[in-house]
Amino acid sequence: MNSSIYERIVSIRSSLPTSVKLIAVSKQVTAEAIRCAYAAGIRDFGESRIQEATIKQAQLQDLPDITWHFIGHLQSNKAKKAIEQFHWIHSVDNLKLAVRLEQLAQQLGVSPQVCLQVKILPDPNKSGWTVPELLSDLPALNQCKTLQIQGLMTIPPSGLADPEILSVFNQCRELAKEIQEQNWPHIKMQQLSMGMSGDYELAVQAGATMVRLGTILFGDRL
Ligand SMILES: *Cc1c(COP(=O)(O)O)cnc(C)c1O
Repeated sequence: MNSSIYERIVSIRSSLPTSVKLIAVSKQVTAEAIRCAYAAGIRDFGESRIQEATIKQAQLQDLPDITWHFIGHLQSNKAKKAIEQFHWIHSVDNLKLAVRLEQLAQQLGVSPQVCLQVKILPDPNKSGWTVPELLSDLPALNQCKTLQIQGLMTIPPSGLADPEILSVFNQCRELAKEIQEQNWPHIKMQQLSMGMSGDYELAVQAGATMVRLGTILFGDRL
């Protein structure tokens, strides 16, 4: 048992408002370290690669109450596995992928929870809807009735100063509010998945409901 992971988790957990869900991002982390986080009370784990997650999920089958969150860019050919193996997909980043996931969810008889990934500022290194694209795709997304669209996910571009990062997170919250006020029957905007190790305090300040923390819990990845 790695006591430093345990202690870091206990300490960060106690610093977060109880309404914020802490997702431990376990990409490039061993099953053993995941067990340690589990022992510290974590039940939500985030992975960004299907293949890597599959191996660890098999090693952790004796821990049945884990909620798995997919947070990486999802290629269409991995969409089926993502739906089969994850309860949440935070990184639905375009309409075509949403429609594909909707078809698969219907076929498989499941209703995955999803977040729509949005780029508040332009960022060539990330996928996601721009704000105008997302607003114009809402009628089509509202047709994805099997998916449980729960909210938005965003990652600010790297290199911003804290006030700019805070502004990105605030704009994301305001966008969710604007969408919610349109009252789409099949689009909920209750969740804001925002905040990583370097910026989660700003995200919480802006109203994040889920933070995705890796390095600050598990240490530097290789
Ligand atoms: C890797 C990753 C995280 C965690 O990043 P840390 O900086 O290690 O906390 C969160 N969200 C996404 C989408 C990631 O890919």
